This record gives sequence, structure tokens and C-alpha cells, in this order.
Amino acid sequence: MTPKARPESVTRRLYRAAACLLAACLAGLPLTSAAFCPGPVSVQVLGSGGPIANNSRASSGYLLWIDGSARLLVDAGGGSFARFGNSNAAITDLDAIALTHFHADHSVELPAYLKSAWFTSRERPLPIVGPSGNKAFPGLSLFMQRLVGKDGGAFQYLSGYLTGGEGFFKTPLYETDADGREPREILKTPHFSLYAVGVTHGPVPALGYLVETDGLRIAFSGDQNGDNPAFGKMIAGADLLVMDHAIPENADRVAANLHARPGEIARLAESAGVQRLLLSHLMPRSERVLSESLTLITKRYQGRLTVAEDLMCVPPGSGGD
Ligand SMILES: [Zn+2]
Repeated sequence: MTPKARPESVTRRLYRAAACLLAACLAGLPLTSAAFCPGPVSVQVLGSGGPIANNSRASSGYLLWIDGSARLLVDAGGGSFARFGNSNAAITDLDAIALTHFHADHSVELPAYLKSAWFTSRERPLPIVGPSGNKAFPGLSLFMQRLVGKDGGAFQYLSGYLTGGEGFFKTPLYETDADGREPREILKTPHFSLYAVGVTHGPVPALGYLVETDGLRIAFSGDQNGDNPAFGKMIAGADLLVMDHAIPENADRVAANLHARPGEIARLAESAGVQRLLLSHLMPRSERVLSESLTLITKRYQGRLTVAEDLMCVPPGSGGD
């Protein structure tokens, strides 16, 4: 195995930030989004797309920035890891990773984040939160065993993350009951508290999250059809709801069992009194009719509405950025 890197110097960090800005320039990405998110609290979109490859949207991933440091990663879909590099976030700053469910477009790059972390100075544990399983999907513990387990894990050379030691920091697993219909506090870190509740995403065990930090409440829907009233209760008065918008209003029953229609998104955001709604997880079928969907949503939801783009920084609340 490669020798472990020494902690990064200040000069090296500055050099890396400059290189990041230059890379963003060359890639045509907006410079304002290519580095740290400003302000006390902000959500940065790492991936605003769904499972279909797209030239401007990676699959799901979000960073919660608090006072200039990325403290929480929500989901690790395809392409989010590269966007994490664009964001100039440091994996050593993360207090936790929270996965909403184990569809590939939300979880496939977790090993890439773990491998990357090995080359940092991080020693403190990095908790990982995720749903329990069913017959069709593994729960978080089995998912991690199959990924990095010592006996037969696909990336068993990273098995030290499950136990700690041998140059690895530990990744304590917080497998959370996806059938539970009452919100629970899962984690309390020095920077935020994380709550979760099971949500309906067709046959897939899935969680919706709420983060409380510095008096602000920030919610992540994950993929869900919006039918669990406990999610709406949990996020009541949220300053920001990051909501998947994957289907049009006329979607068929199968799709609408997996995802919330625009009308359902509007109902959820309005009834929960959400201050700012960020629509993400866009797919061709939802993006094609986006203006009609936005018209429909704003008929009912009067708060601030934003459509996600990769690397966008989104402060909570209804005021200006
Ligand atoms: Zn999904």
C-alpha cells in the first residue's frame, strides 16, 4: 500500500485552491461555485441529476457547509466525487456521511471517498448513516460488508475502515430503521444534529433527513413519493428543503410510487412551511417540462424556489444569497 501522506501544509492548501479555480475556469464552471461556500451555513449541490448520465449534472450528492468547512456529505452518487474535488471541500472536515438509500445513483462512489480519505491526515472516526435493508436491498451494515468487508468485500483492501487501525480511521455505522415512521435523532456532532425518518421510495428502503445547526433546519428528502406524513412533521418550518424532482405531474403510477409529483412536492413544502425549496435530482422526463412543473408548484407553494445546478451554494432561508 502507498505510504500515508503527511498533513497538507497551508501553502499546499492555497496552491490546491488556486488550481481548483483554474480547473473550474477551464471546465466552464462558474467561479463563484468552485470553492468554499460562503456564509455561516450553506448547502452545496455536488450532483443535481438522477441516474442517467448528463453533461452538466452529476448524480446525487450534497455538502453542508458550516462556517467555511464542509461538515456533512449527503449521498455519494456517480460524479459527485469529482464535484467534491471541484468544491475544494476537505474530507478531514466531515463529521458524517449520510446515505438516503442504496440505489447506485446515491451511493456508488462511497468507496472513492473512502479511498481518497486514506491519503489525508484524518484520524478521528467518520460516522456513516444509512437505511436498514429488506429482501431486495442490503441495509447499511451488509452494504459496507459487501463493499469493504474483510472476507470477500469488493474492496476488501479498505476493510480497515470497519475496524479502525492499520492506518485507517474507523467508520462507525448508524443503520437506521427505514420502516420506522417516527423521526429519530441519529447523531449529534459538535456542528449539527441529524434526524432521520423512513420514507416511501417504491420497494426501496429509504430515509429522509433533517439537520439542525445554529438554529437552522435543513431537510433532505432523498428519493421519496411524499406519502409519509412523519417526514412533513419532521421538517416543519425548515429553512431549506432539498427535494428530489424526478417526475412530471402526469407520471404513471409506478414512477409516482417512487417519486413525488410536482403537485405533491408543492403540498409537502407548503404544508410544512418550508422557507426555501431546492429542486434537485432532475431527470430528462422532469426537466423537459420544468417550466410547467414550476408553474404548478408556485400555485400552491409561496416560499423561495430554486432549481439546483451542480456546485451551486444554497443558503437556507427566504432572503437573498
Ligand atoms: Zn432512488
